[in-house]
Amino acid sequence: MQIPLSKPDITDKEIQIVDEVLRSDTLSIGPKIQQFEQMFCDYYGVKHAIAVNSGTSGLHLLIKAIGIEKGDEVITTPFSFVASTNCILFEEATPVFVDIDPKTFNMDISKIEEKITDKTKAILPVDVFGQPVNMEAIRRIADRYGLKVIEDSCEAMGGEWNHHKAGTLADGAVFAFYANKQMTTAEGGMIITNDDHIASMCRSLRNQGRDSMGIWLHHEQLGYNYRMSELHAALGVVQMERIKELLDKRAAVARLYNEILKDVHEIDIPYIDPKVSKMSWFIYVIRLKDRSKREEVMKKLEEQGIASKPYFLSIHLQPYIRDQFGFKEGDFPICEEVASSTLALPFYSQMKKEEVEYVCEVLKKVLLS
Ligand SMILES: *Cc1c(COP(=O)(O)O)cnc(C)c1O
Repeated sequence: MQIPLSKPDITDKEIQIVDEVLRSDTLSIGPKIQQFEQMFCDYYGVKHAIAVNSGTSGLHLLIKAIGIEKGDEVITTPFSFVASTNCILFEEATPVFVDIDPKTFNMDISKIEEKITDKTKAILPVDVFGQPVNMEAIRRIADRYGLKVIEDSCEAMGGEWNHHKAGTLADGAVFAFYANKQMTTAEGGMIITNDDHIASMCRSLRNQGRDSMGIWLHHEQLGYNYRMSELHAALGVVQMERIKELLDKRAAVARLYNEILKDVHEIDIPYIDPKVSKMSWFIYVIRLKDRSKREEVMKKLEEQGIASKPYFLSIHLQPYIRDQFGFKEGDFPICEEVASSTLALPFYSQMKKEEVEYVCEVLKKVLLS
């Protein structure tokens, strides 16, 4: 049996709609983008949704839209996909890391305030592996100090913290649709916000800095081409129609993993904070109690056709970031400890019961050998 780490869930409906768009003559800036954005406004109950060509583009636009500039500080987490820090570096601002909670792997909120300085402009939390961060607490801190909040919800489509949908308590949030995410457009992202200024900035900047009237070749400011094509948006429309099904299927796979692995002493299964009213399962990540075994476990799984990967590596120890800011091992010990012991197992909506059972059976054997 060959079991990949992830697999997109594509049906005939997605294939058909992309085919229709291809035959329509409107391949970009058309009705599918508008429809896809409207679906996000409705789903999240927000005023604005702006589709872009990747999650990273969305994060970059939000950083620009809230006015982050060279020398500004943005408080964020070192345990994430590198894009959540890169978007700060694009504008030559400074990422200020806080260590993480050892159970949820999300930013340790109790460590935020001690990092706030005169230069701090924003907080950028990440909903790690689809577990929404405590945005009520982050919002309170941000409001007390007059800071903006950009939520990287790229892994948390549909997740909820205490009945607040991930992304909705931030000034702006981003979802991402790379092929391994809960829903996919192959590549793509969506910004949501209730702030009119942030929304119009994002719309202008994704389209070469054109003004909101869209006057032909009139450019108000330096912008980018971060537009999403009609083909990608069409895929997104169908995946959004199926979003409940997609999330429910992933939750069922996670439940099965939890059931089989909960009593395996050599590992910890994912911890979900009881205040998370809806977990959005992005990947299924276990922690090895003996982290020195990780390489060997991965190798032995691979020999049995099972893909697995460390998730994530510490951002502050990535070579270019370490060089620029002089970070060293031990700076964020909890993050480093977690990063050296986590392992993502195969996880996708269409994963069959027998496949989950096979992965668990091989994993157990490997751990006990
Ligand atoms: C997927 C992801 C992104 C965006 O990635 P893109 O490949 O640019 O769409 C950003 N942050 C996190 C935490 C992610 O997992």
